[in-house]
Amino acid sequence: MSTTPNILYDQHGRVINYLRLAVTDRCNLRCFYCMPEEGINYVPRADLLTYEEMERLVKVVAKMGISKLRLTGGEPFLRKDFMPFLARLCAIEGIEQIHLTTNGTLTAPHIPDLKRLGIKSVNLSLDSLDRQRFLEITRRDSFEAVMETFHLLLEAGITTKLNAVVMEGRNIDDILPMVALTKDHPVSVRFIEEMPFNGTGKETGIKWDQWQIMEHIRTAYPTIHKIKDAPYSTSFNYAIPEHLGTVGVIAAFSRSFCGTCNRIRVTPQGMLKTCLYDDGVFNLRQFMRQEASDQALEATILEALAYKPKDGFEAEQQRKGGLPVSESMATIGG
Ligand code: SAM
Ligand code: SF4
Repeated sequence: MSTTPNILYDQHGRVINYLRLAVTDRCNLRCFYCMPEEGINYVPRADLLTYEEMERLVKVVAKMGISKLRLTGGEPFLRKDFMPFLARLCAIEGIEQIHLTTNGTLTAPHIPDLKRLGIKSVNLSLDSLDRQRFLEITRRDSFEAVMETFHLLLEAGITTKLNAVVMEGRNIDDILPMVALTKDHPVSVRFIEEMPFNGTGKETGIKWDQWQIMEHIRTAYPTIHKIKDAPYSTSFNYAIPEHLGTVGVIAAFSRSFCGTCNRIRVTPQGMLKTCLYDDGVFNLRQFMRQEASDQALEATILEALAYKPKDGFEAEQQRKGGLPVSESMATIGG
């Protein structure tokens, strides 16, 4: 692992240029694959990174070679004053692209400002096109608000991706209608393998992997074909003749994309993660609150990258105490 000016590498020689920053663990939905019905024990407010701490971290990593940033959560728009914070991040030198992941329930009023700020793309989580199924999955009746966000994003010309977690007995009937959305809408619809980050400690087991999802889609769209994936893409992408949008599958459980991993994560409480499947490698919040200098922060992040696991399987094996993945995705950011 080493740096040359503004290029950051891990010890496997992978370029690391992407930070996913989860700005809160709070959420107004209760997606059953992400957290139990009663919710999760939220991190005490004092243990959440402040906006000032997040901004400082982004400035440090931007100098090191991170140029792409994703804001996620929990639900990022739930955090007070999220939009002024976003505007401050947009001004940070070296950050070339800012993306958002949102459940879309509170997003609509902010779309003109997202456009004005030049937000590069929005990933909107939408697991069903059926109001009742949406309610059963998210345990909240917010389908219309999310659909409004979807249409307003497209009208604003903001690159939009729909993320749907595929779950047996829940939304299999939605797969083909969601693919059909790509006919008239310039949207990328991505189907995600369910992961065990459900906050319950229970492994669900995966029935719908990337291959089964594609086989199902091919029954209705036999002309669907593979297209070139963008560099570092976590989705395998496909096009259908005459469709404006594209279809993707994210093999989040099979973990077949780790070879080109370019990312690190920071959780709402300031834990640095070098892999989605690790259990946190360094507490940046504590370190910053102990008056660590920017140089010390930089050195720590570099050291962590020297141990970045080669893939999600290795990261899972290295979890402390050998405990399996069970935390809620809302505490990680996805
Ligand atoms: N609340 C926002 C949202 O839902 O878009 C942002 C945070 S959410 C944790 C980020 C992404 O993680 C969402 O697309 C969600 O579908 C995905 N996700 C959450 N739990 C998951 C799980 N167990 N398996 C696969 N994807 C999951
Ligand atoms: Fe909230 Fe997103 Fe988790 Fe759903 S997936 S409960 S919207 S954080």
